[in-house]
Amino acid sequence: MTTPIRIDLVSDTATRPSPGIRQAMAEAKVGDEQRGEDPTTNALCERVADMLGQDAAMFLPSGVMCNHVAMAVHCEPGDEIIAAEKCHIWSSEGAGAAVFCGSLIRSLPTEDGVFTAEQLKGAINQRKPKAPRSRLVHMEQTVNRGGGTVWPLATVQSVAEIATANGLKIHMDGARLLNAVVASGVSARDYGSPCDSVWLDLSKGLGCPFGGVLAGSRAFMDEAWRWKFRFGGGMRQSGMMAAAGLYALDNNIDQLASDHDNARLFAELISQIPGIALEFEETATNLVFFNITGTGLSTDDVSDALEKRGIRIGCESDTCMRAVTHMDVSRADIKEAAAALKEITSDGDTHNRAAE
Ligand SMILES: *Cc1c(COP(=O)(O)O)cnc(C)c1O
Repeated sequence: MTTPIRIDLVSDTATRPSPGIRQAMAEAKVGDEQRGEDPTTNALCERVADMLGQDAAMFLPSGVMCNHVAMAVHCEPGDEIIAAEKCHIWSSEGAGAAVFCGSLIRSLPTEDGVFTAEQLKGAINQRKPKAPRSRLVHMEQTVNRGGGTVWPLATVQSVAEIATANGLKIHMDGARLLNAVVASGVSARDYGSPCDSVWLDLSKGLGCPFGGVLAGSRAFMDEAWRWKFRFGGGMRQSGMMAAAGLYALDNNIDQLASDHDNARLFAELISQIPGIALEFEETATNLVFFNITGTGLSTDDVSDALEKRGIRIGCESDTCMRAVTHMDVSRADIKEAAAALKEITSDGDTHNRAAE
């Protein structure tokens, strides 16, 4: 029998809907979303469009669908999307850019997923017919596989300026945009308004069961609705889910700061464990990547041993793990998870020395 997971650091999607969210869902006023008649969904979309400094927004079942709809609106076959190496649209979305848009993702090398306006400028293809047409620049806020790094506002603005000057559209994957807002004190509107399309996820740190809200100009949204229907993303009484989103926007943004504090604490505690090395110097938000090569154990060994204690941390590779904090893990949980890692890896040390 497997041990139930008590402390789940595998992702910030591991949150369970709180009593407040469940109550908001139960009481939601609903209608047919596809006809624009669901009042709660409409309220959520208006709210998010305003937050992000955009004309309008649509509710979609997932963040991945937000990215796919946006890329499909902006790009055609033969186009190129300029993004950072290891971005989510490249690593984790079933190659949607290739499948739905016939477009390439050109990935720029970066330390932490934040590239500069100069890098973008150097990468844009001149309009030679034999080159792919550079069409879209993509920024991930915060950078998932960049250790939760926040794109600084000045960088967002300078990248957007170069993109616009060269006829490229600007898309922001805002899966953790509100983490960036809480960590930096910059408003969502300031991050969002330089973009042609931008979305935020309800199912990550905000604690909703699912959903993303994609915002853009009126013209963008007209095309986006075609793709939403085409992908089967038109919904019906989606107000039940939108109510969860509205509740989360009212109640769950400020607590992201404690997720960030917990991530920093976890990073600090595990950085003292022999054989464990943090992959990123700074813990800016709620993601902690760490390398365990020095312990002599594999990530599978560590993960199995943690799971026996009811703790889950994700394996990124044979050598790297990722811990994600969220509202369902407490400070005490963080201390327990770090202590468990220490115990497991020092056992491993003994075991390895004995084996040599
Ligand atoms: C989780 C995530 C997504 C996808 O969001 P879902 O709501 O899970 O589909 C997209 N981009 C990034 C950076 C993510 O972390």
